[in-house]
Amino acid sequence: LKNTELPEEYRKLLETAKSKKREISKKLAGLSGKKIAGFDDFVHACHDEAFSGIDCSKCANCCSGLGPLFTQSDISRLSSFTGIKPGDFSQKYLRIDEDGDTVFREMPCPFLDENLCSCYEARPRACREYPHTDEKYMLTKMKRLAQNAQYCPAAFRVAMMIIEKYCR
Ligand code: SF4
Ligand code: SF4
Repeated sequence: LKNTELPEEYRKLLETAKSKKREISKKLAGLSGKKIAGFDDFVHACHDEAFSGIDCSKCANCCSGLGPLFTQSDISRLSSFTGIKPGDFSQKYLRIDEDGDTVFREMPCPFLDENLCSCYEARPRACREYPHTDEKYMLTKMKRLAQNAQYCPAAFRVAMMIIEKYCR
């Protein structure tokens, strides 16, 4: 667990996610490439249900340990927000990882302030979209959901609801 201050309830969810890691990966991988009518609608309803019981401001596990991939427009927006020139912003905060993606130089995120995002209006697109459970074409995103279920208690709940309905 990345955030050592996680509430007990979220910690337990992530411990269960860890103990079921192989099962979750295998079952969700089994859905990839299938055609299931209404799948996106089902996942989006699961997303709403999962987040109705989870308060991100008490969690921040994604901001503590995962961090976003940056696009050029993310860098421009954050550069304006912070008043730091894009080149200087990149040098100060970012690095290229082993996959060639632009990521934060260090985690926890430098903009994380007591579980809240201090650049919320200008945060990277990937932060806005995390954990990617209310997007289209969810059947193509099962591998990523299985990975995110290890970090995000809400994504874990969504993963388990999908498994309960479609992988029995
Ligand atoms: S920019 Fe904000 S939302 Fe994104 S990882 Fe940092 S604190 Fe979290
Ligand atoms: S998106 Fe998930 S990991 Fe991030 S703060 Fe919310 S519940 Fe926690």
